[in-house]
Amino acid sequence: MPHTLRQKIADLVLKGELKPGDRLDEHSLAARFGVSRTPVREAIRQLGASGLIEIRPRRSAVVRSFDRAELSEAFEAMGEIEALCAARAAVRMNEAERLRLRALIATSEDISARTDRSAALEMDFEFHGLLHDGARNWMLKTVAEETRLKITPYSAALFTMESYNADLERPHRQHADIAEAVLAGDAERASTLMREHIAQVLISLQKFFDDTAARSDAPKVKGDNR
Ligand SMILES: [Zn+2]
Repeated sequence: MPHTLRQKIADLVLKGELKPGDRLDEHSLAARFGVSRTPVREAIRQLGASGLIEIRPRRSAVVRSFDRAELSEAFEAMGEIEALCAARAAVRMNEAERLRLRALIATSEDISARTDRSAALEMDFEFHGLLHDGARNWMLKTVAEETRLKITPYSAALFTMESYNADLERPHRQHADIAEAVLAGDAERASTLMREHIAQVLISLQKFFDDTAARSDAPKVKGDNR
């Protein structure tokens, strides 16, 4: 689930409160979020799998960071994988999934209208997850989910960072257009729109980094020396 302890810890990294090389201290994180050390340890383990955190021998966890080139390569790969899922889903989704997709877009319209950022983030997970399932290819789904997990701390920042004025209307419109192509069985259009959608997320993210680089709450990417 998106806005969990894992995301809260990831946010500390993205806000620059925890910087690359900093150690994640289970004790102070547990105290800060008012939980026991067990969920903190689990969240750190999951972040280790996502690539945001590096778990070193003898279980000390430190903050890792993608540099800009790595981040854009990750999104390039994600764009292709998501585009393939959308294309397959356009021809393979079953009737129940099509109904679910229609319902999701209707809910998304409502979420966007009331600017509910955390609901929009969950919606984004659900929307892409539904297309991963609809592609009917377990290997493709596995790759899509693993890739998504790696970039989620970055893409989710657009929804979770207070200093970012999230535009929820644009991703909603893009999701709606992709869904329309999928429901029409137009694999080529679905994949083109999906590729554009993921590229747009990267552009927004880079703009976010640029805009906030000078501020104290700026998320840190390696190579940002401004
Ligand atoms: Zn999306």
